[in-house]
Amino acid sequence: MSDCLFCKISSGEIPSRQAYSDERVYAFHDISPKAPTHILVIPRKHIPKLADTGLGDRELVGELVTRAASIARDLGLEHYRLVANNGEGAGQSVFHLHFHLLGGRPMAWPPG
Ligand code: AMP
Ligand code: ZN
Repeated sequence: MSDCLFCKISSGEIPSRQAYSDERVYAFHDISPKAPTHILVIPRKHIPKLADTGLGDRELVGELVTRAASIARDLGLEHYRLVANNGEGAGQSVFHLHFHLLGGRPMAWPPG
């Protein structure tokens, strides 16, 4: 998608602080971190939000989640939260699927 911020970050058109990269998945540090570790894990494929995924995306979504876990492991994070905001009402502001990996501080429950 030519007009998508995270597609531009994935392609390198807009710079980011990389945390992980392969041909299907990209991860980078959030520009406005809400925790000492705040990484966004995205598919290179443009999918606007979690609700837009289907059976054909099962492997990719599984890869995003397991990759987030391995990034956390590599950072030595034992306690962390993995969040996907789906839709404006849930706080989604960038409409390219992403999981927030948040860690390094205690997390309250429920989230606001
Ligand atoms: P969400 O509100 O769930 O859609 O999350 C979007 C996230 O993208 C927010 O946490 C923003 O701080 C983050 N963000 C926006 N622009 C950039 C950018 N250029 N580089 C890194 N993170 C960004
Ligand atoms: Zn996109």
